[in-house]
Amino acid sequence: MGSIVLFGPPGAGKGTQATAISQTTGLPQVSTGDMLRAALAQGSELGERAKVFMESGQLVPDEVIIGLVGERLQEDDAGDGVLLDGFPRTIAQAEALQDIETVDLVISIEVPDERIVERICGRFSCADCGAVYHDTFNQTKTEEICDSCSGSEFIRRDDDNEGTVRSRLEAYHHQTAPLADWYHQRRVLFRVDGDRPIDEIRDDILATLKSL
Ligand code: ADP
Ligand code: ADP
Ligand code: ZN
Repeated sequence: MGSIVLFGPPGAGKGTQATAISQTTGLPQVSTGDMLRAALAQGSELGERAKVFMESGQLVPDEVIIGLVGERLQEDDAGDGVLLDGFPRTIAQAEALQDIETVDLVISIEVPDERIVERICGRFSCADCGAVYHDTFNQTKTEEICDSCSGSEFIRRDDDNEGTVRSRLEAYHHQTAPLADWYHQRRVLFRVDGDRPIDEIRDDILATLKSL
């Protein structure tokens, strides 16, 4: 089996759906956003380069991100493919990926713009395990205790504010959205309505995975 790509606007629910897909397929989740935030936290040169772009809601330059993913795909656990979350985001990135990896399926989670701001502005995640929650749409079962790991420390991303979301949406429409057609032409695109409860979206995705 090759790799799977999770595609969609910021806040579509890619990270939220990734856990079940990873569990079902055994593919390790590779999130470029998480990798960039880790590089930033470590104070690495790559993190420093990416910082201004991330803070302003612009895409990090292709050569930076392509190098990062290229290295990640050479690690041992990536031998049977990976679940890509947040990559590729430009045609140039997709072309570079095509040279090094087979993509079997691109899951496009479709959510209208007017839903995105409320999703992003209410997002928080567990500091220990990274589980993603929402102030109103996906609360923890017990207040301030993570469902997955029982941790009690939560974080919010600096770029999850209304101003940055607008730039991220603009970048999505100009640079990333055209990729849906690119993958459709290659017959690997699966569109799922992401403006529904989390479980319903997950069930549709898992049904499609079974038919692969
Ligand atoms: P992405 O990885 O695509 O940026 P996330 O998975 O982080 O998106 O989800 C963004 C926010 O929206 C999170 O706070 C998450 O809990 C919430 N969310 C995810 N899926 C749904 C859904 N189907 N309905 C409502 N809220 C959702
Ligand atoms: P979101 O939750 O909005 O989908 P991510 O965590 O995937 O956001 O990405 C956060 C930021 O990291 C983006 O706004 C962008 O600056 C940068 N980034 C992540 N993935 C890529 C990529 N494939 N190409 C360019 N920039 C990226
Ligand atoms: Zn947790």
